[in-house]
Amino acid sequence: MTDLTARGFDDLIVGAGFAGAVLAERLARDAGRRVLLVDRRPHIGGNAYDTYDDAGILIHPYGPHIFHTNSRDVFDYLSRFTTWRPYQHRVLASVDGQLLPLPINLDTVNRLYGLNLRASELDAYFASVAEPVAATRTSEDVVVSKVGRDLYRKFFQGYTRKQWDLDPSELDASVTARVPVRTSRDDRYFTDTYQVMPEYGYTRMFQRMLDHPNISVLLNTDYRDVIGVIPHRHLIYTGPVDAFFDHCYGQLPYRSLHFEHQTHPTEQFQAVGTVNHPNEYAFTRVSEFKHLTGQRHPHTSVVYEYPRAQGDPYYPVPTPENAELYRRYEALTRTRPDVTFVGRLATYRYYNMDQVVAQALATYRRLHPARTGAAPELATTV
Ligand code: FAD
Ligand code: UDP
Repeated sequence: MTDLTARGFDDLIVGAGFAGAVLAERLARDAGRRVLLVDRRPHIGGNAYDTYDDAGILIHPYGPHIFHTNSRDVFDYLSRFTTWRPYQHRVLASVDGQLLPLPINLDTVNRLYGLNLRASELDAYFASVAEPVAATRTSEDVVVSKVGRDLYRKFFQGYTRKQWDLDPSELDASVTARVPVRTSRDDRYFTDTYQVMPEYGYTRMFQRMLDHPNISVLLNTDYRDVIGVIPHRHLIYTGPVDAFFDHCYGQLPYRSLHFEHQTHPTEQFQAVGTVNHPNEYAFTRVSEFKHLTGQRHPHTSVVYEYPRAQGDPYYPVPTPENAELYRRYEALTRTRPDVTFVGRLATYRYYNMDQVVAQALATYRRLHPARTGAAPELATTV
């Protein structure tokens, strides 16, 4: 610590998740800056951290993380630090006593209602049950305007109420719009161009990103405990934006989860990576890691997700009121040119990993425009 203090750094980065790690890597390797990366957790990787459990199974302690992107630039950038394993995620939803494909597709509808529709007939079926909506503003509007109220109630309303403690009518349209509706039999959860998992896990990939003589990592440390004693030119902050400003306008809501991890003495626990429970139980979904990682092991580990209000902040909560409150904090960030705010918590955006990587790369380009050579133009809009 004394050594660090004496030398000082160009950049002090708070948070060793995707946002902080990408910026640390770019600033050190491309711009030659000396970087200190601080995280209060005992590990790097943020919420994407993975590790082996007591049984020797690779798990994601903060819930299942599946990498998918349409951005070639994000994929190419991360490919510098890992090889990949192709993986296409599949989800089944437990509805009316059956396990049915999600996103809703031709098989979902036929099996749920005992029908025998063809793909060419499904649009007309959806049109016959859909409820017209003047303007698609809420997460309820998105679903009922496409597939009607019965499918909405069975697949979306209960899950959303559990996950957010809000009715879909109170949430921004973008939340349930993450889950599409299909008229085909395609049962993949994502259709992105690149659907892959880091071959040796996320943590290994982060280790390789941060393996540079200009990068120092300080774990188990809240940045507030060291910021006064470590000289630095610029601060990059990836934690919750309201905490940075001591909640001066009140708490910006973040949704949390309790994770219940289990290991079972059987090779496979469920047929697919994730099973959703929209209508029963306090948990929303159960994920089995070996589907994601491809690991072979006589036992298997799963995680149950129980949503809750208190605890580590995981999700920004997209409602009109919260957007308004975030705008007030965002205005404060503009009064601090000495600090860069980036990442899912600091910019209060419901971003996937690839979007955070794209945002961090774009942020780097903005901070160091002269160094465009090694920071590719990004296809992903952020
Ligand atoms: P984080 O990973 O949250 O990193 C922020 C870091 O800042 C944390 O490690 C925190 O400890 C640290 N920090 C905060 N405050 C302080 C402080 N005061 N001092 C020191 N350190 C501090 N995305 C996908 O693309 N695919 C998925 O399948 C997927 N599944 C997900 C499942 C769950 C349950 C969750 C919660 C998220 C999922 N995501 C998924 C989203 C993904 O986790 C995020 O997009 C990504 O991890 C965000 O990276 P980040 O760096 O912005 O934030
Ligand atoms: N959702 C739902 N039923 C489901 C799956 C998702 O109602 O079976 C809604 C819910 O509001 C959820 C949102 O769609 O929060 C986004 O789902 P996603 O799987 O993208 O959530 P994440 O993986 O980010 O938790």
